[in-house]
Amino acid sequence: MLVKTLFGFVVGGCCSVVLASTQVDSTCYGTTAKGRLLNGVSLPGEGKNYVAYSDTAIALGRTYVHSTVRDVILDAYKTLSLTLPKTQFKYAETGFKEGGRFRPHKTHQNGLSVDFMVPVKDKSGQPGILPTHIFNKFGYDIEFDNAGRTEDFYIDFPAVAAHLKALHQAAAQHGIKIWRVIFDPKLQPYLWQTADGAYLRKNLTFSKRRSWVRHDEHYHVDFIVPCKPLSSYVDDSQ
Ligand SMILES: [Zn+2]
Repeated sequence: MLVKTLFGFVVGGCCSVVLASTQVDSTCYGTTAKGRLLNGVSLPGEGKNYVAYSDTAIALGRTYVHSTVRDVILDAYKTLSLTLPKTQFKYAETGFKEGGRFRPHKTHQNGLSVDFMVPVKDKSGQPGILPTHIFNKFGYDIEFDNAGRTEDFYIDFPAVAAHLKALHQAAAQHGIKIWRVIFDPKLQPYLWQTADGAYLRKNLTFSKRRSWVRHDEHYHVDFIVPCKPLSSYVDDSQ
């Protein structure tokens, strides 16, 4: 069976199992906007308090990151499983195993860019999880209003803030940094009002302008890991 997704990819067959190796160290090259990745590792499809946005996207190899970034992401989820045990998180697009052009994104090229879907609550105030599938462009088509609401959900801003704080702290523990967070500037003030708001403003750099695509249903995080020059990348996959 062939499935033409809204992102323009053709998927053949049905099932692909991607095993995460815990031992491989990745090397990044160039920048998030023009880069490559050696020994990229895939994020696990799911864990205690998180899940990937799409099995199809996993099968397409779209959930690879630098190994240190993976460790940071998983450590942050572990922290949140203790501090916010009822909250479910969902990650989205990251990048290819070898990095490189990652349409339709402008970055995500060297394993250091990660998209996270916003954690949400439903109308009754219970933790929910955004539906993400090929018919809503893996969730990227979901539109929140300027107060962070859809008909069915509202953004759990305290959970977003706690997640970003946990990522920042885990990054420090692994000796890397967060370069920037891209999130709709109109929604950022809701983060400042949370318990972790002051921490975020002190320690993280947030986008000030709206970017090429509205970041309301997801927040994009770029990490800083020392990378080699792109000119030294040797493509031995062919
Ligand atoms: Zn992104």
